[in-house]
Amino acid sequence: MTELLIRGAKQVVTLAGPARPRLKQEMRELSIIEDGAVLTRDEQIVAVGKQNEVRNLASPLAEQIDAGGCVVMPGFVDAHTHPVYAGTREDEYEMRAEGYTYQQIAERGGGILSTVRKTRAASEDELFELAIPRLRLMLEHGTTTAEAKSGYGLSVEDELKILRVIRRLDESQEIDLVPTFLGAHEVPEEYRASREDYLDLVTKEMLPAVASQKLARYADVFCETRIFSVEEARRVLSRAATLGLGLRAHVEQLSLSGGAELCAQLKAASADHLEWVDDDGVNALQRSGVIALLLPGAVFNLGLVQYAPARKLIDAGVPVGLATAFNPGSSPTPSMQLVMSIACAQMKMTPAEAVSASTINPAYSLGLGASIGSIEPGKRADIVVYDCADYRQIPYLFGVNHASTVIKGGRVVYVRRS
Ligand SMILES: [Zn+2]
Repeated sequence: MTELLIRGAKQVVTLAGPARPRLKQEMRELSIIEDGAVLTRDEQIVAVGKQNEVRNLASPLAEQIDAGGCVVMPGFVDAHTHPVYAGTREDEYEMRAEGYTYQQIAERGGGILSTVRKTRAASEDELFELAIPRLRLMLEHGTTTAEAKSGYGLSVEDELKILRVIRRLDESQEIDLVPTFLGAHEVPEEYRASREDYLDLVTKEMLPAVASQKLARYADVFCETRIFSVEEARRVLSRAATLGLGLRAHVEQLSLSGGAELCAQLKAASADHLEWVDDDGVNALQRSGVIALLLPGAVFNLGLVQYAPARKLIDAGVPVGLATAFNPGSSPTPSMQLVMSIACAQMKMTPAEAVSASTINPAYSLGLGASIGSIEPGKRADIVVYDCADYRQIPYLFGVNHASTVIKGGRVVYVRRS
């Protein structure tokens, strides 16, 4: 048995509360304990409270971490990432600075399909090695669980290859990964003249193979003008549901298509992006309880101005989460802290709402709300110490990494060198 006592915290941001996603005003209620401590035993949290009370529960042999007047929070849950790919796209980053749009770059052979070409050419071992430092960066920035999508293979063999890499990474790396199959990320070049055949490939070959090999927990689709229509997305997601996969979808990112209503109808676990969602879409999400996962890092990095209407979604009672959308094109950041900064400054979320949206709500979107996303007895000891005395400083002092100690399953996995 190993015990860990995290003491001396100025604020323990517990997020203790109802066992469901937080809505409206609840997103601002973080259940903060001033001058608090946390006790973990093996992989679990066993006590959280005022320092003197918790200290008495620890055995004399417990390892101790002095949080030194800092903030202690649950690890971030980044519920939308694309971490397995080959190649980088700084050339497109420069083109965007020169005025080309994301779509214009895609039309010139850039975008998702340029990453697909490089990812197909890479071996399983190469993809595995390339992803390790990316996941390490996420962990060092306070993310202890991430969802990870395929989607840069777009062939049966290459999609399965990526999902096997995600499984190996989950087993070998400290960060926990939840795998999502995204074969309907784009229509690959060889199917440009026969997109129906590609949809058949996704629904009749890829999805059954993914499900039978248990390589993914969720299926996702990029529902967007010039990518997959709402009806095509419905076909993919409906098939996935019959095979027992949970559903997520990229919707209303660059235009309004009705994808939010589709997510509501199919009872998806999350509707992601939503920059262009309208009132009907907001109402549909609210009625169905679908979690809205907003990805403001992509809007920021693409130099766009249309952020998702976070205020409208929260005020309407939609459970809102935030994610990095970590990927080599639109949002190459591993930092949930930066995403919180953008969410507060550009979408007018309060820092407390941004914390709920980065921990407990995305945990529920991954079906893991009972085990992670808050600091409560019985939950997994995924805990991060930040080098500030008030949690609001995490988004406020932006562009730096505040995480100083990361604890995963009751074990210290990162300590910043001072
Ligand atoms: Zn994405």
